[in-house]
Amino acid sequence: MINLDMALSTKPAPVQPDLSHWPHVVIVGGGFGGLEVARGLVDKNVRVTIIDRHNFHTFLPLLYQVATAMLEPAEVAYPIRTVFGKAPNVRFRHGQVSHVDHERQVVVLSDDAELAYDHLVIATGATAAFFGIPGASQHAIPLYSLADARRLRNRLLSALEHADAVADTAPIGLNFVIVGGGPTGVETSGALSELIKTVIKRDGLKLDPTRVRVILVDMAPRLLTPFPEKASAYALKELERMGVEVEFGRSVVEVEEHAIRFADGERLRVAAVIWAAGVTANGTLASDVQDKTGPGGRVRVNEFLQIADRTNAWAVGDSAAIPSGDNTFYPQLAPVAMQSGRHVAAQIARQLDGKAVVPFKFRDKGIMATIGRHAAVATLPKGPTVKGTLGWLAWLGLHLWYLVGFRNKLRVMINWTWRYFDWPSGPRLIVADAETAD
Ligand SMILES: Cc1cc2nc3c(=O)[nH]c(=O)nc-3n(C[C@H](O)[C@H](O)[C@H](O)COP(=O)(O)OP(=O)(O)OC[C@H]3O[C@@H](n4cnc5c(N)ncnc54)[C@H](O)[C@@H]3O)c2cc1C
Repeated sequence: MINLDMALSTKPAPVQPDLSHWPHVVIVGGGFGGLEVARGLVDKNVRVTIIDRHNFHTFLPLLYQVATAMLEPAEVAYPIRTVFGKAPNVRFRHGQVSHVDHERQVVVLSDDAELAYDHLVIATGATAAFFGIPGASQHAIPLYSLADARRLRNRLLSALEHADAVADTAPIGLNFVIVGGGPTGVETSGALSELIKTVIKRDGLKLDPTRVRVILVDMAPRLLTPFPEKASAYALKELERMGVEVEFGRSVVEVEEHAIRFADGERLRVAAVIWAAGVTANGTLASDVQDKTGPGGRVRVNEFLQIADRTNAWAVGDSAAIPSGDNTFYPQLAPVAMQSGRHVAAQIARQLDGKAVVPFKFRDKGIMATIGRHAAVATLPKGPTVKGTLGWLAWLGLHLWYLVGFRNKLRVMINWTWRYFDWPSGPRLIVADAETAD
């Protein structure tokens, strides 16, 4: 009788080394921070388990391009198992951690499974902050996961198709409101306004451009508040040139299924509300691992990135309130997540070698945001602000560099190059199964 396993395989299965005597590092979250912790421990004498509720890493800065049909979901996501495929000491466990028991040194998953650790790293990121505004979490669409991006893309394209379908019988206007004038709000409004022009010009949708409005609202008096004022002024000029209506000092008080209400009493009918108003760690695992959490529900850590009085529990990235001075904390940005992840890996290795841990030092390399084709702002630390095409090229290069996976880098580069010359092609598909996914 033929053994099916033998018949299918040409090589004997590799013998897995027994690493059970090595200390076990459990990393909760395979985002920018969690991946860097694991990368830093690949060649160390530890067993590493990354736990994530998704079996892929998501490159959040490009989600808005998925939402506006410029990139496919698979181009901004990468299987975590594949990232560490060749590392014998790194394993991936798909699942959601619901609780940490520091006394027993175990993490508890939502299926009640438990995993014991010698070192624990919380790298669970953050989530959209709705500030308790009625209806916002139900009816506005945030941009924090791949499922959000697909849901938003379906909503945008469906609204545009519907307006086309009724154009001859009962023409309608469409209002898309983006709440929040930070980098995500600016990037999304610019890309959405480009998408609308595309579906009218290239796809021939019968829409009256004067009745399709992209409205960006913010309570603040300017866009991109972490950037210098001249960068904000440039972003405003560029967005307005692209047809985006920018309204400052506007505070949202309610979101309904098809409408948004402002503090001044205005109620506007909407095709979609895109929520880019901020992030919080409240409601995530970070707010569960300590009795008293830090600002925005983040885990309070010391200068070494250890959680409270524990020497073997750490937090990195968006989930951690990393002190940058007296009562100030580093911003929730990818470079902070990556550098803090690398730091924790190095500290765990130092402890295992019997060395003292050293404090975290952040190297600020600047911030950047893109507004549209040929328009971006990049502000270097204590240096100049680069705008226009140069800023845009810097933005493209940096995002390609940090995108995880060679295949994704290649595909995104080909896509961007193709779109540059064949403006504006793109995957404008409505694949409507993500409305309810998380
Ligand atoms: C739309 C958007 C655009 C952005 N653009 C930029 C930008 O241009 N530049 C920049 O510097 N920063 C940007 N940021 C911020 C940047 O992406 C974050 O600072 C960074 O992702 C933080 O990394 P992290 O590892 O802490 O968390 P994340 O990358 O969010 O990863 C957290 C991981 O933990 C997993 N997880 C969460 N809870 C659990 C649980 N209980 N159990 C198991 N797994 C769990 C999640 O599935 C996720 O994979 C952007 C963020 C967003 C949302």
